[in-house]
Amino acid sequence: MKKIAILGSTGSIGTQTLEIVRNNPELEVVALAAGNSVEAMEAQIREFRPLVAGMWTEQAACELRNRVADLDVRIVSGMEGLLEIAVLPQSQVLVTAIVGMIGIRPTIAAIESGKDIALANKETLVTAGHIIMPLARKCGVSILPVDSEHSAIFQSINGEPGERIAKILLTASGGPFRGKTRSELENIQVEDALKHPNWAMGRKITIDSSTMVNKGLEVMEAKWLFGVDLDRIQVVVHPQSIIHSMVEYVDGAIMAQLGTPDMKLPIQYALFYPDRKPMDGKRVDFYELGQLTFEKPDMDNFPGLRLAYEAQMAGGSMPTVYNAANEKAVEMFLNRKIKYLQIPELIEEAMAQHEVISNPGVEEILAAEAETYEYITGRVMK
Ligand code: NDP
Repeated sequence: MKKIAILGSTGSIGTQTLEIVRNNPELEVVALAAGNSVEAMEAQIREFRPLVAGMWTEQAACELRNRVADLDVRIVSGMEGLLEIAVLPQSQVLVTAIVGMIGIRPTIAAIESGKDIALANKETLVTAGHIIMPLARKCGVSILPVDSEHSAIFQSINGEPGERIAKILLTASGGPFRGKTRSELENIQVEDALKHPNWAMGRKITIDSSTMVNKGLEVMEAKWLFGVDLDRIQVVVHPQSIIHSMVEYVDGAIMAQLGTPDMKLPIQYALFYPDRKPMDGKRVDFYELGQLTFEKPDMDNFPGLRLAYEAQMAGGSMPTVYNAANEKAVEMFLNRKIKYLQIPELIEEAMAQHEVISNPGVEEILAAEAETYEYITGRVMK
C-alpha cells in the first residue's frame, strides 16, 4: 500500500490523481488540502476518508469542520495546515498539485521529512530549484515529475547517465493562437484564451499555455529536474500533442514518449514509479492520426517564451520575478483588468526594473514575489 497526501486535491491535477486512487486499491489517501472549495472537499473526505484535510482560510476550515463533524478527520488551515499535511508521518508521497509559489514551503518541509514528491507545481522548481534539487539529493528523496513533458523526458531518460544526454526536445502544442500575428492577438478575450486545443487544465495554466509562458516555465523546470543547461533545451512546436517530449543522446539517437493527451498517465507513472500499471483510456491510432508535424516556436509574437530564457539566464531571483509578474498579470487578465498582450509586456517591465539577487533563500524569493506583485498592481492601477 502506498500512502499519499495531495495539496490542491480539488483542482485539475488533484481530481485526476484521485481518479487514479479510485482505480488502484494499492493507493491510499491520508491527507488532502485545497483553497476554499469546501463542498468539493467534503465530498472527497467522505469518499477517501483521509486522516487530515486542510483549507486555506480558517473560515473555510470552520465550515468544513461543521460539515464533517460526524467523521474522524482533523481539519487544519493556512500555511501551518499545509506544512502539517506535508510532513504527516503516515504519508510516503506528497503530490504537489497546488497553483503558485505557495507550494515552496510545504515541498521543502516534505523533502526534509523524507517524502518523495510527485511534482505538478512547477512554480516551486522555477523559483526555488536551486534549493529543492540539492535538498532532495541530500535527503535521498525522489522528485517525480507529473507535468506531461517532464514525465516524457523522465521516461525517455529511463536511468541513462546525464553525460549521455545531448539535448532535451521539449514539445509544445503552440496553444489556441498558434500562427496568429501580434495584431490578431490584440483583442483576444478571456473566453478565447481558455480554449486549449488539446488539454483540459486549470484556468491559470490554460492562459499560460496560450501565451507560451507555460512552456517558458517548463524550460526552467526541465533545467532543474534533469540538470541540463538552457542551451541544450530546445522547444519544438508539435500541434498534435502526441509526442510529449524527447531526449537526444550524444550518438544522435532520439528517445520519445508518445501517447494521447491525458494527464492521468504521467500522474500514475509518478505514483507507481519505477513500476508501470495498466490504465484504461484512448490509445494512439497512427492510421487515424496520419501525420505528426513540427515547427519552430514563434518567440516574436509570443515573447513569453523568450522572456523565460532571459529570466533563467539572469538567474537568481529573476525567474521568481518572471513567474510572479505572470501570475499577477494573468489574474488581472482573467478579471478583465488588462488586455491579453499586456501579460508579456508587464512581465518584461517587471524583469527590467528588478535587480537580481543571486542564490536567493526562501525569504528572499517570497520577498521578490511580493515586490513583483506590488509592482504589477501599481503599474496597472496608475
Ligand atoms: P487548478 O487551478 O485546477 O487547481 C489548483 C488547486 O490548488 C485547487 O485544489 C485549489 O483549491 C488549490 N489551492 C489554490 N490555492 C490554494 C491554497 N492557498 N492552499 C491550498 N490549496 C490551494 O490547477 P491545476 O490542477 O491546473 O494546476 C496545479 C499545478 O499543476 C500548477 O502548478 C500547474 O502549473 C501544474 N500543472 C497542471 C497541469 C494540468 O493539466 N492541469 C499540467 C502540468 C502541470 P480550490 O479548489 O479550493 O481553489
